[in-house]
Amino acid sequence: MAPAKKSILDRLNSGEVVIGDGGFVFALEKRGYVKAGPWTPEAAVEHPEAVRQLHREFLRAGSNVMQTFTFYASDDKLENRGNYVAEKISGRKVNEAACDIAREVAGEGDALVAGGVSQTPSYLSCKSESEVKTIFRKQLEVFTSKNVDFLIAEYFEHVEEAQWAVQVLKESGKPVAATLCIGPTGDLNGVSPGDCAVKLGKAGADIVGVNCHFDPMTCLKTVKLMKEGLEAAKMKVHLMIQPLAYHTPDCGHQGFIDLPEFPFALEPRVLSRWDVHKYAREAYNLGVRYIGGCCGFEPYHIRAIAEELAPERGFLPQASEKHGSWGSGLDMHTKPWVRARARKEYWEKLSPASGRPFCPSLSHPDSWGVTKGHADLLQQKEATSEEQLKQLFTKQKEKCCV
Ligand SMILES: [Zn+2]
Repeated sequence: MAPAKKSILDRLNSGEVVIGDGGFVFALEKRGYVKAGPWTPEAAVEHPEAVRQLHREFLRAGSNVMQTFTFYASDDKLENRGNYVAEKISGRKVNEAACDIAREVAGEGDALVAGGVSQTPSYLSCKSESEVKTIFRKQLEVFTSKNVDFLIAEYFEHVEEAQWAVQVLKESGKPVAATLCIGPTGDLNGVSPGDCAVKLGKAGADIVGVNCHFDPMTCLKTVKLMKEGLEAAKMKVHLMIQPLAYHTPDCGHQGFIDLPEFPFALEPRVLSRWDVHKYAREAYNLGVRYIGGCCGFEPYHIRAIAEELAPERGFLPQASEKHGSWGSGLDMHTKPWVRARARKEYWEKLSPASGRPFCPSLSHPDSWGVTKGHADLLQQKEATSEEQLKQLFTKQKEKCCV
């Protein structure tokens, strides 16, 4: 048998950098295996080879964590608004398949398996604490039976729901990480990042931070506020960050889902690998040791984290065999003006053009300003009706003209 791998907390306690993985639903949507809208992970059952391949690419790029592809795999999400997965496949099967794939690929390198839960439609529909906890507990049963290495509660807009998730995940006795998809202004109930971090730590989270919804620089600001909150409360909790790979300086409180380009026209905003170098260095300097990515993060972005932090970690990832550091591989190019780009100063200073002369550089977020408790956020099992859609189209037109 192979020697046991160092646990997540042993790694973080000894100051090691843990590199997370990137965004699964966004990457697999573009490849034709996930539907934008529900964003549910039935591909783990329907197309396991696609999920396995993406895990392998992240592993090769330097990821130390294979997060089970169980985002939005709670039973209530798998039957929300006409979703067929709960009835035709079952939540248990999706969660089990995702665990098996993550474990298989983690075994091919130095990676741990993390079982993940995320926010639920039940919470948005104002269901009770015990009802929401029952939903998390069902996923946890699978993670426990599959013996994942640790657990992540990620993508929560309300710290209250994340606290409930952490409390359930702690029942397993395994280490728990918790990340909110919030910006510097706090969660959607107005709880500040510092207070959110303290609440999550008190709920039992060993690692806290943010994921998704905002670009790296915004997420770094949020994590800094979390760090200050934890320090003021004298709590020792590890920090984690998994931002978007999209530039979002124009986002409001609700993050990138409020941008008019979400989700089908975000391409002009994609981070370059050089943007990721800067992010990885700043995250490290802030004291964050669990550094990864969320939506938009492709394997080459994760490789950029591993390359930037190679001096600290002492090694490069496998995928760097096909990537000269800071463009150095271009010294093999046939054209002399491209060979002239085989250096760090060139790429570090470049301001990439978007190539879209008639496009604005920033957008106006939708800012409908609704969250849990508002009638528009109530979820339903039935498919969205034509009439319901028509009302939304009208509302959108009115909002645009204000
Ligand atoms: Zn995301």
